[in-house]
Amino acid sequence: MKIAIAGAGYVGLVTAACFAELGNQVTCVDIDDEKIKKLNSNIMPIYEPGLMEIVVKNKREQKLKFTTDLKSAIKDSEIVFICVGTPPKKNGEADLSYVENVAKTIAEVMESYKVIVEKSTVPVETGEKVWQTIKSNNRHNVDFDIVSNPEFLREGNAIEDFMKPDRIVIGASSEKAKRIMENLYNPLNAKILFTDIKSAEIIKHASNSFLAAKISFINAIANICEITGANVDHVAEGMGLDKRIGKSFLNAGIGYGGFCFPKDIEAFIRISEKLGYDFRLLREVQGINENQKEFFIKKIEKSMWIIKGKTIGVLGLAFKPNTDDMRFAPSIDIISRLQSEGANIQAYDPQAMENSKTMLKDVEYRQNPYDAAKGCDALIILTEWSEFKDIDIAKIKNLMNRPLIIDGRNIFDASHMQSLGIEYVSIGRKN
Ligand code: NAD
Repeated sequence: MKIAIAGAGYVGLVTAACFAELGNQVTCVDIDDEKIKKLNSNIMPIYEPGLMEIVVKNKREQKLKFTTDLKSAIKDSEIVFICVGTPPKKNGEADLSYVENVAKTIAEVMESYKVIVEKSTVPVETGEKVWQTIKSNNRHNVDFDIVSNPEFLREGNAIEDFMKPDRIVIGASSEKAKRIMENLYNPLNAKILFTDIKSAEIIKHASNSFLAAKISFINAIANICEITGANVDHVAEGMGLDKRIGKSFLNAGIGYGGFCFPKDIEAFIRISEKLGYDFRLLREVQGINENQKEFFIKKIEKSMWIIKGKTIGVLGLAFKPNTDDMRFAPSIDIISRLQSEGANIQAYDPQAMENSKTMLKDVEYRQNPYDAAKGCDALIILTEWSEFKDIDIAKIKNLMNRPLIIDGRNIFDASHMQSLGIEYVSIGRKN
């Protein structure tokens, strides 16, 4: 099939590369000229394991191309995916202006039937707004359908998630659009759930909210564990073995971040409010998440006593492992706060240091975990990259001014660390 993808970000780029890999003819469009230039020179604008290989391969086989010319891409395609950003406005609602822009362009240039797919995360009833926008700007008066096909990929595992999804959700109002989407996804052999458009839109916000609630729940439990001297890892394991609960998203830590959870939870609260429902449960989820960063800073203050003039090494900046994405990463708030208290920060992250430079000031970036630990009064762990789990702790200890590790992701075994002579502080365990 001929597909146009509007937006070459984490979602658009992965979607474009994967649909090309499945045998479709894909044109991926972005308004960011630099991004398109990079992609045309085989430079990936984001770090995503396995992405480069399939982009390069499908470009070579002429199944995938990149351009800034959205109009031509739309004209030439049967299906148009909207994968542009829906960032939060100041009041927390989703900014849908990028979605509207694409919808208007589609309406102006389309000369034949198109399936227009919302893949960006949008509030319920956006499908109706997109339909209305296209209807009222439909210059050539052609037939079209709107489909909601939310994306559930996880950064760092995006290709695998796209190619082997737990489920594909397709919200459609016409049989014709349903069949086209079914054919498109057929090669994946995955479970497809067909719904109406509004239900599909809600599935995305409800899923992210539920996962965020799971994280906040275990973080609340971690606080009870700390007060009582219990161990949150054991509690999470005991809970997770119950099939009704499941073990994923039960890792206590410094809370969730990233481009999806914080903005989607806030947007869902706003949507509910507008609809006349006060989603207090989600406000509490948010509140616990904010407090978790505060608790972590308190731990650092308690362990170090005076922050001013001290050097703190930081391992991990990205909001989670295997990505370079720094958007709404907890590291931003935590590091800024420590700097405001007078700390000198020296940090290392395997992929996110370039992006971090645009978001954090006065951080000294180091080339590996050992250089980040050198001469510091405490080492804090903010992202659970697997390479950190394998570091030589004895070497780290010798490099540090004081062998104090404050672990915001519980990546080490506390008794092992103590046996190595490390002052070890973690989350939800007896410290
Ligand atoms: P992103 O910011 O990485 O990418 C969006 C891209 O759209 C940018 O490159 C921007 O230049 C481009 N763009 C804006 N207007 C355009 C236009 N008129 N034509 C062409 N391109 C245009 O965002 P993202 O992380 O890919 O997220 C996109 C959407 O998918 C959001 O709604 C997000 O919530 C949702 N989502 C993201 C993830 C994730 O893990 N990042 C997962 C699931 C869903």
